[in-house]
Amino acid sequence: MLQPVAVGHKFLSDYASIVGRSLIDEIRELAEPLKGRRVLHLSATAFGGGVSEILYTMVPLMRDVGLDVEWHVIYGREEFFNATKVMHNALQGNPQDLTDEQWDSWRSYNEMNARELDGGWDHVVVHDPQPAALHTLAPEKSKHWIWRCHIDLSTPNPRTIEKLLPYIKAYPASVFHMQQYVPAGMEGEINIVPPAIDPLAPKNMAFSPEDAVYICEQFGIDVDRPLMCQVSRFDPWKDPLGVIDAYRIVKERMPEVQLALVGSMATDDPEGWDFFNATVAHAERDPDIHILNNFNNVGAIEVNAFQSHADVLIQKSTREGFGLTVSEAIWKARPFIGGNVGGIPLQVEDGVSGFLVSSVEETAQRTIEILADPTLGRRLGRAGKEHVRRHFLMPRLLRDWLRIFATLEA
Ligand code: UDP
Repeated sequence: MLQPVAVGHKFLSDYASIVGRSLIDEIRELAEPLKGRRVLHLSATAFGGGVSEILYTMVPLMRDVGLDVEWHVIYGREEFFNATKVMHNALQGNPQDLTDEQWDSWRSYNEMNARELDGGWDHVVVHDPQPAALHTLAPEKSKHWIWRCHIDLSTPNPRTIEKLLPYIKAYPASVFHMQQYVPAGMEGEINIVPPAIDPLAPKNMAFSPEDAVYICEQFGIDVDRPLMCQVSRFDPWKDPLGVIDAYRIVKERMPEVQLALVGSMATDDPEGWDFFNATVAHAERDPDIHILNNFNNVGAIEVNAFQSHADVLIQKSTREGFGLTVSEAIWKARPFIGGNVGGIPLQVEDGVSGFLVSSVEETAQRTIEILADPTLGRRLGRAGKEHVRRHFLMPRLLRDWLRIFATLEA
C-alpha cells in the first residue's frame, strides 16, 4: 500500500568541484561505518513541494555513499489529505483546527499505514506531520526513528499542536530548520539542520545567458528590458499581490520594467486556484505582468531560465518555513530581495548578499537601487552565490544526516 518512489542515480563525486574536496572526504569518512544501513524516508507525496524536491536528490546520494535507502509514500485518500491540509495551515498559525472527524481520519490513515509498513529498518525518517503518528503506532519496525519537520511551528494553533505533540515528542530524535520552530514540550534529541538545494538538478544547473534568453522569450518576455521575478506557489503568505504593488511603484520610475510571477499549481487545490485568480485580477491585464504556472508548461528548466535571466529576484513572503526558492534564486548569482521572515534571513545577509525587506515600498525602493546600479547587483549576486555554496547545497545536508545517523547508533 505504501508506494516506493523510483529515483535516478546521482554521484557524490560530481559535486566535488562545486563544494570542494574536503566536504566530500568528510562525507565518505562518515559514511564508511554506516555502509549497508537500511534507511527509509516516509513522506506524503512524491510530487511538488520542498520535501520531494529534497528527497529526489538525497535518496540517490545516500545510496551512492553506500547506504541501503528507500523512499515510500504513504497511502491516503481525499479525506485524509483534506485533514492534513487543515493541519498544515493550523500548525503554521491558521486559527482553524481540524474537526473531530478530521482528527479521526488522520489517525485511522496512520493506523492503516502503520500496519502496512515493512519492518527491519535501521533508520526511519518520517517527514512532516502527515505520517507523524507512525512511530507511536509501529515502533518495532525500525531500530531508530527520526521526525523531520519542514514547516514553521513557531506560532502554531494551540489546539492543533496540543493534539499533535504526544506523537512527535515520542520520537527519539527530530530535525528542525531553525531553533524557533521547535515547539514547547518537544523531547528527545533535537537537531537544527536547514535544508539544501541540488546545484546539479535541472532547476539549478548552470545555464548560458543565451539559453535563458531563448526560453524567457518563448513566454513573451522582452529580454532587452529589465525583469523582476518571483517563483513561488500562489499563496497569500508568499504575497504575490504585494510583489505586483511593488512592481507598480518601480514602473512609475522605470516604465520599461516587467514582472514575471511563476508558480506551480495542484489540480486538487481549489484554494490555490482562487488565489491564483485573485492574483491575475490584481494584475489588471497589464501586458508587462506575466503570470505563469505549470499548466503553461513551466517546469524546472523554465524556472531555471527565469531565475538566470531576471535582473531582480524577489521572494516577498510574509511567512516562510525555509524558502527553497530563496537559495535556488541566489544560486543563479542574480541580485535577490526577500521578506525578512522565517528562513529567509538565514539565506541572505541584508546589504551583503541581497536585501531583506518588510514592506511593498521597501521592495520597490531596493528594486530601483539594483536596476539603477548593475555593479551593485553583480556584487550582491556574487556574495549570495558564495553563501549558498557554503551553507545550502545538498552535500552539506547529506553530511548532517550521516552525523545524525551515527549519533543515534553510538
Ligand atoms: N516550485 C516550482 N515551480 C513553481 C513554484 C515552486 O518548481 O512554479 C518549487 C520551488 O522551486 C521549490 C519548491 O517548489 O523547490 C517550493 O519550496 P519552498 O520551500 O520555496 O516553498 P513551499 O512551497 O514549500 O512553501
